[in-house]
Amino acid sequence: MSTGRASKQSPAPRVALTGMMLESNAFSPTASEQDFRNLYYLEGGEILEEAHSDASPMAMEMTAFIRTMNATGPWEPVPLTFTGCSPWGPVDHAFFRRTVERLTDRLREGPAVDAIYVANHGAMVSTETPDPDGEMLEALREAVGPAARIVTTLDLHANISERMVRASDVIVGYQTNPHVDMYERGEEAACHLRGMLGGTSDPKSALVRLPLTPPSVTLLTAAGPYGELMDFGQRRRRERAGAILNVSVFGGFVFGDTPKNGLAAVVTARRHQAEARVLAQEIGERAWNERERFVRDLTPIGDAVADARENGADPDADSGREPLIFSDAGDNPGGGGGGNTTELLAALAKSGARRVLYGSFFDPALAAEACFLGLGATFSAVFNRASNVPFAQRLELPARVVALNREPFVGRRGIYAGRRVDIQPSCALELGGPGGITVVVISKRFQSADPMFFEHLGLDVA
Ligand SMILES: [Zn+2]
Repeated sequence: MSTGRASKQSPAPRVALTGMMLESNAFSPTASEQDFRNLYYLEGGEILEEAHSDASPMAMEMTAFIRTMNATGPWEPVPLTFTGCSPWGPVDHAFFRRTVERLTDRLREGPAVDAIYVANHGAMVSTETPDPDGEMLEALREAVGPAARIVTTLDLHANISERMVRASDVIVGYQTNPHVDMYERGEEAACHLRGMLGGTSDPKSALVRLPLTPPSVTLLTAAGPYGELMDFGQRRRRERAGAILNVSVFGGFVFGDTPKNGLAAVVTARRHQAEARVLAQEIGERAWNERERFVRDLTPIGDAVADARENGADPDADSGREPLIFSDAGDNPGGGGGGNTTELLAALAKSGARRVLYGSFFDPALAAEACFLGLGATFSAVFNRASNVPFAQRLELPARVVALNREPFVGRRGIYAGRRVDIQPSCALELGGPGGITVVVISKRFQSADPMFFEHLGLDVA
């Protein structure tokens, strides 16, 4: 049975491609147009070219979507603008509005499209409004009218608004954290679109969002309450295969700090809204009943430093002590943090802790100075002399340059596996003499989610 919307479809459906990807930490500095251009800002045919490159900075779901559309039948891509920024603060509102207006102008002026694929992150805020992702999707919907299909992929850290769901026919969220399934989600989005264009589905979605904003450290998917919730959602989807097209459970991004923050289930049924609603409700109730498990006790810096001191004071490997790993998760560049807070580093240095590896500290000015001084140089290292991040305090300590690097490296684990990581120039600084604290300083803001961040300087985390 075909639907009214699909019956007018041309043999080669025209599908617009776009996206504006940013995860905004509301407490970080403004993400400017230049910050987007520094990662990628692609127009028209450039998007299609990037989809055929093997080392593109472009979000992988767009590549997967384009390749899957190419493989599954005729289509006419209508590439508009696709841009992405490393996680940072709120997007400059004027740049955001300009970008959306360009998109809607081109959609209104050109021949009608049958569909739009939107690859967004979903946790963007602007300097003026809390829901630019919703604003963008709503504007796209208004530009193409109700007959065109809109398929949207989002990061599982997206903060979902009602209008994001209303404007999209299908929303597909990542299912893994750390994120390693972008390619699969892009493929899935293309398959959903083929189904809609072919008349085998006419999707209806339901959203349940809870007044529950989990900290990022409770949103891993391998285990714990969020992973179990994901598994539950996917199990239910399989049990209702055919009726339910997609189950996406969004943990949300607490530092987005918006009224639409909250763990959210978006369920898309093939045809019947009631089926989507029942399952979204069931997932929501389950999450709510488990809410205590999303509370995480943090370790005060004083306790962490005392533990580190005790561990490092005893170099005997047979002491039975396990190595310790501390994470200042609020300063994670992967979540819009500056990667340059100094509270923990200052406390460790003051305590005289030994045998500590610390990294990565984002400070291009300090890395450049170390390179200029050269290997073996001793100097007074000033951390954060040029930072514009409010939480990044200045810290000055005597240091020695013990390693230097001026090359990109290739990651070997998780999200960076096989990918080129360019953080150079980078260096290792030794504080407190040999066997003290060794700090890795990098020149681009990167999440240090790979042992290579230490190993590229000859440092062994084990
Ligand atoms: Zn994410």
